[in-house]
Amino acid sequence: MNMISLPRPECPYCHEAMRRWPLGQHMLVCDTCRRPIVRYLAAPSRRIFRLRPLYSVINAIALFILVATFLAIVIARADIRHIMLAVAIPIAMFGASDIGDGWLSWRTSLDRGWNHLRKGRKARLIGLARAAFGIAGCAVAIFGLLAYGDMTTPRKPLAHQAGRP
Ligand SMILES: [Zn+2]
Repeated sequence: MNMISLPRPECPYCHEAMRRWPLGQHMLVCDTCRRPIVRYLAAPSRRIFRLRPLYSVINAIALFILVATFLAIVIARADIRHIMLAVAIPIAMFGASDIGDGWLSWRTSLDRGWNHLRKGRKARLIGLARAAFGIAGCAVAIFGLLAYGDMTTPRKPLAHQAGRP
């Protein structure tokens, strides 16, 4: 990404100049695209900081969990029921970050997909669609977790329903 050029860094999401980064702060909201931007130390020995949108940080963590889960399946032959739990969590994270980022696209008319920045009405519509996908993703994750809970709790016999015609 981009090296921080004090005192006014460039937003990695919309490429506009951000306000002066407060000393010791790890997150700052961009005034133009309203995205929370995370600052992290990329090269501690040379004190090089990098900036990333919170959205892509959450997605990177979710992707890491997803990959780790698949490795656990292959290597440890984890139980299929636990895989559902481990997959539902990153899906919920993807969903939540899409809801947040999509909503901000709608509010600010700025939307970033991969390396392309969209502006105006198109960005708003894409933002709305992404928020809708995010809600769908969260719903899928919740259903997955409910199914997981259902499979892991031992089924109680329905005493009041049994055997009464
Ligand atoms: Zn920005």
